[in-house]
Amino acid sequence: MVLTVKDVKTAFDGVVIEKGKPEIELFFIIREKIRQKEVVLDKKNITPKKKKEIIELFEKNITIELIREKVQKCKKCELYRAECHTQKVPGCGSPYTPLMLIGEGPGFEEDKQGKPFVGRAGKLLDRLLEKLKICREKIYITNVVKCRPPRNRNPLPKEVKACSELLEMEISIVNPRVIILLGSIALQYFGKKSITRERGKWFVYRDNIWVLPTYHPAFLLRKTGEALKKSKWQVWNDFNLALKRLEELKVIDSIVR
Ligand code: SF4
Repeated sequence: MVLTVKDVKTAFDGVVIEKGKPEIELFFIIREKIRQKEVVLDKKNITPKKKKEIIELFEKNITIELIREKVQKCKKCELYRAECHTQKVPGCGSPYTPLMLIGEGPGFEEDKQGKPFVGRAGKLLDRLLEKLKICREKIYITNVVKCRPPRNRNPLPKEVKACSELLEMEISIVNPRVIILLGSIALQYFGKKSITRERGKWFVYRDNIWVLPTYHPAFLLRKTGEALKKSKWQVWNDFNLALKRLEELKVIDSIVR
């Protein structure tokens, strides 16, 4: 569920929406009013459970926007200074999702558009999600580093370390039930070495998040013939494993079309 200012307006008495202001600014204004008790729950229409739900969603929405702002201002490693760097690429999608995908870092197209997975590899990922009937807007997609490394090289360990605070914040706020790691850099972030050995094998992060590594779509784009067929099949199986887990956890409905 994506919470809008309109939902908040319906839930609370006294919320006035100022025309022409961006949604996020309105959220900040409304949050302040809730804190100052200037707006109160309309008890006639909303149950306490619903109120709690709305406030939680509301806080989540604001916090994910704050992380995006933090990404935009970040100068914690040298990548933002790289010649190829145009703009930061924060994570995107729904912060309320049970499924998060983590890739490596932005490439040429991502850097130009400011969104993760929009280049050739992203298109391949989109086709996969489409076939699996997963709605991209209903999941959260991010990368280990948010700035494009020069010549699309792997991010250096010190760059990954510098950017880890942002990724950890994203994981905390989204708090997904399942994470799919795309490729070896994302896998290494979680302290494991070989994507060939680890792909398709579950491990648990922070006690309650199921994590499944698979190949990065860019890896598939470099393959041809039988090797391509085999790797595609493996990625397909891994995504299906993740969906099965989400089904067992009874949260799959929130991400499918
Ligand atoms: S890669 Fe991450 S840590 Fe480095 S400047 Fe970009 S946002 Fe900051």
